[in-house]
Amino acid sequence: MRTYKLGEADRIIVLLTADHGQIRAVAKGVRRASSKFGSSLEPFMHSRMQIIRGRNLDIVSQTQLLHSYGSTVAADYDSYGAASAMVETAERLTTADVDASAAAPQFRLLHGALASLSRAEHAPRIILNSYILRALSTAGWAPSFTVCSRCGKEGPHRSVNIGVGGVVCDDCRPSGSQTPAPESIQLLAALLAGDWATADASDVSHQKEAASVVERYLQFHVEKNLRSLSVMDQT
Ligand SMILES: [Zn+2]
Repeated sequence: MRTYKLGEADRIIVLLTADHGQIRAVAKGVRRASSKFGSSLEPFMHSRMQIIRGRNLDIVSQTQLLHSYGSTVAADYDSYGAASAMVETAERLTTADVDASAAAPQFRLLHGALASLSRAEHAPRIILNSYILRALSTAGWAPSFTVCSRCGKEGPHRSVNIGVGGVVCDDCRPSGSQTPAPESIQLLAALLAGDWATADASDVSHQKEAASVVERYLQFHVEKNLRSLSVMDQT
């Protein structure tokens, strides 16, 4: 997900694994041109690896590149921005206090989203926002964009309240709720459900409005302004 320089030629690699949650490990010599790791430890890559557990830091001993998602993603500005925001989200949702069994579905979601992004299956903004809504749902913060998130009344509803958890009916609507375009609310429901036909057919203006709801919902739950999301905003 991320790398940090360490000493002259090493890096600390922040990894999300399928079975062992988030791991920080040292890759020795990875910054040398002759490194045996090649590109396998760069961001957005899917690799199999052997890691030796250390007293302070784990050490990456061997790697095998499985899917070179990072190369295709890095070649496109919007895809790169989306991938950066995805790994930043995944990193925050799989911190040390999240155990490996809870991190496993986050790994599968991130892997699926990066694969989809690298194959350019949908617009990067659509893949990113669907990923964030599903990642937050998986973490236990599922929003509702269909039934009222307070009383459960069947929708469609016109208002959205981030703090309550999505759309709210006219009876439940707290002051300060927002009223996006109905199409934007439909798009949010589609992004959450993985209804790609609806999402792909959506208008860019509704995509942007939905993205701002997703961003606020994410910030509400992770309580931190994500730098890469703000970058996406400007594109
Ligand atoms: Zn209600």
